[in-house]
Amino acid sequence: MGSFTQQEPIPEAAIEAAIAVMRHGRLHRYNVALGEIAETVLLEQEFAQSCGAKYCLAVASGGYPLSTALRSCGLKHGDVVLTNAFTLAPVPGSIQGAGGQPVFVEITKDLVLDLDDLQLKIQSTKAKFLMLSHMRGHLVDMDALIKITDKAGVQVIEDCAHTMGANWNGVPSGRSGVVGCYSTQTFKHINSGEGGFIITDNAEIMARATILSGSYMLYDSHLAGAPSDAFENIRLDTPNCSGRMDNLRAAILRPQLAELPSQARRWNKRYYALEAGLSRINNLRLIARPKKEYFVASSFQFCLPNFNEDQVRSVVAGCDARGVQLKWFGANTPVGFTSRHDSWRYVDAQNLPNTDAILAVLLDMRIPLTLSMRDCEVISLIIKEEVESIKLC
Ligand SMILES: *Cc1c(COP(=O)(O)O)cnc(C)c1O
Repeated sequence: MGSFTQQEPIPEAAIEAAIAVMRHGRLHRYNVALGEIAETVLLEQEFAQSCGAKYCLAVASGGYPLSTALRSCGLKHGDVVLTNAFTLAPVPGSIQGAGGQPVFVEITKDLVLDLDDLQLKIQSTKAKFLMLSHMRGHLVDMDALIKITDKAGVQVIEDCAHTMGANWNGVPSGRSGVVGCYSTQTFKHINSGEGGFIITDNAEIMARATILSGSYMLYDSHLAGAPSDAFENIRLDTPNCSGRMDNLRAAILRPQLAELPSQARRWNKRYYALEAGLSRINNLRLIARPKKEYFVASSFQFCLPNFNEDQVRSVVAGCDARGVQLKWFGANTPVGFTSRHDSWRYVDAQNLPNTDAILAVLLDMRIPLTLSMRDCEVISLIIKEEVESIKLC
């Protein structure tokens, strides 16, 4: 069976483009020959076009856009930022890094933000920012969410680390909020090792983000950048918090971005095969996917609702012994990428009983494209056997 952590190789066209950049040596995005347009600039233009955004900025990591977006939207030290209780560590980390105070919102059993709890927490905290994390690619009802946040004057920043290429009812993920943030880290949908994007239609926010990223006042060279006049009032008041993307990574990403729609179909083919293989197993609950959601399934989640901790652990161990790597979000200490809100101890402890109950029985699996369709069949058979081998009394 294939490996759960092995990505596909970088496409040949991307390797060629990277070699060309190395040959000419101008890796820094603002180091260009006369008349040359940097790979980073072209990538920004192409990414903006791919999601219909006015402005796009490419940056050095997937976490960087999150804190930069908060600062660019006007977050002040100590401001509350609401965010999903189920997300990855860079999300609360970015809120903390920007000087905000994370307040977690419960998730539903379908792993998306609980809109009732969102409304309660908007009322109780008077928050003006929501960092909406589309964790593991599950999109909440974006129409309902935006209705709530618009009414309350809450700015929405979308963490689209797992939803690049996805959409809700035809609106690309990252285009409903004020800012959309993406990651091009190895385990996401396009791979440059590290990297990310910020998109927005708001010129002032993009101008601030650009200065923050370390543009050395060379922002006029951007093709998907904010117009020059948007910089006038902010250019000297905004710090340079260096986080640019370089031309080598941009060169690797451009051919991958062009292939994203077809790669998404390959991911989803594997997802549906796993879903079919795991349907109708007693005591195994699949996550419902709404009709309006178009997802890009780079991972797969399911719940074992009637299992206790030891029983979940036995399933994980049984699968692992047979080469199927499942991640469990119920563990008390973070393992690899799976940390939980109560292990982010720099944030005040919060009471999230619904989320805790869901995470206690939630299992998660990567779907790298190196897994074959046959692998997906074998994987679901192994999970089925291991789940059914546990006797619940
Ligand atoms: C990967 C990821 C990020 C960004 O993290 P980086 O490691 O900096 O790319 C943000 N949010 C979520 C949910 C992620 O999975």
